[in-house]
Amino acid sequence: MRNLVRPAIAVLAAAPCALSVPAKAADSVAWDIVAGLTTEVGQRLAGSEAESRARDWGAEKLKALGFRNVRIEPFPIRGYVRGIDKARIIAPVPQALAVTALGYSGATPDKGIEGEVVYFPTLAALKAAPDGSLTGRIAFIDHAMRAAQDGSGYGPYGQVRREGPGVAARKGALAVVIRSVGTDSHRNPHTGVTSWPEGVKPIPAGAVSNPDADLIARLAGMGKPLRLALTLTGKTVDGLPSGNVVADLPGRDPALPPVLVGCHLDSWDLGTGAIDDASGCAIVTAAALRTQVQGQTLRTIRVLWAGSEEIGGFGGEAYAKAHAEPHALAMESDFGADRVWRVQTKFAPADKALADRIVAALGVMGVVAGRGSANGGTDVEPVIAKQKLAVVDLGQDGTHYFDLHHTPDDTLDKVDPAALEQNVVAWTQVLAIVANADSIASTE
Ligand SMILES: [Zn+2]
Repeated sequence: MRNLVRPAIAVLAAAPCALSVPAKAADSVAWDIVAGLTTEVGQRLAGSEAESRARDWGAEKLKALGFRNVRIEPFPIRGYVRGIDKARIIAPVPQALAVTALGYSGATPDKGIEGEVVYFPTLAALKAAPDGSLTGRIAFIDHAMRAAQDGSGYGPYGQVRREGPGVAARKGALAVVIRSVGTDSHRNPHTGVTSWPEGVKPIPAGAVSNPDADLIARLAGMGKPLRLALTLTGKTVDGLPSGNVVADLPGRDPALPPVLVGCHLDSWDLGTGAIDDASGCAIVTAAALRTQVQGQTLRTIRVLWAGSEEIGGFGGEAYAKAHAEPHALAMESDFGADRVWRVQTKFAPADKALADRIVAALGVMGVVAGRGSANGGTDVEPVIAKQKLAVVDLGQDGTHYFDLHHTPDDTLDKVDPAALEQNVVAWTQVLAIVANADSIASTE
């Protein structure tokens, strides 16, 4: 498909060679970080002892790579400590289910609960149910998320997980089970955080795998009473230790505000967080270093390996609060390890030439300019909002991202070294431009 629109031959002959990504990476920094974090630390649930080990691992790694001012910046969080997750259909046909608790789920007693299931094909259908109509019953919320290159299904369908349990609780439900917010057909449930409206008591909230959700929908369609047994014994705990890892590659002019590149260090606990988000930390760190190969950049490049993103974006908030010093621009990588296909920017009108240079540099590698504005992502959004920073978003191909996201399948073997390297090359192109720009205006 990519050759359907060809420039005229004369233009083609005059154009520079397309920047192809070499089969072998120029260095092994990115791969070493993804492999190291997933192997030597593994799963890194926000607020857990494993997340603390990940911070130590990260600080050591960044020092060894030559970063300066490497520090761990601690903060406490309200976290979720997983317990036992079990679910089975009791009637009309006994069947086992693959289930996971959502972050901040309410807890069942150790022996579990049982209840009649009320099937809602959509979140809107649940919202339309009369108040009190779910008392003593288990709400099941279905949805129809599909895979998309830009991952655009996650916004609207993700509301089933983020908002659905709170709606069910407000209507008196005993518990809530959702179709996983994911696009695979494996028997893996997808976890993720939910939230509860002010004054609403959390109820047990779980997600079943897509094939199990299909089964529940078919059984509900039989019109016979559908009953479920559910055990989710995890607990919400206040005051758990978390923290960010922050490190600098100092620029030639220390008086100029730095370029901030972010990712998150914590992961969900079902897999090992290879695509979410060890890859992001690997990409931004490797690119920051590779930018220095051509000589020290004018501006400092600062990396932020944020803690506790998954459970509520606490690392990004803590960073913005702790760092009132001016920044020039922020970027983040948190959408897996597949290839960059799109670039979007947010610059002040005065910096249009800078934006054009970035688009041109990436265009050579087949990355297209999107029509939207850049927003950065959870770990850098708070500092962007506070300081009205310029932003560049490198959009990764998300077609398969939600097959793996927050599942036991988020493991190292899913990371393609060639795609990871393409990310590092794209990021290096952008960082070489912005970290050497003598002026980057606020977007206010
Ligand atoms: Zn993530």
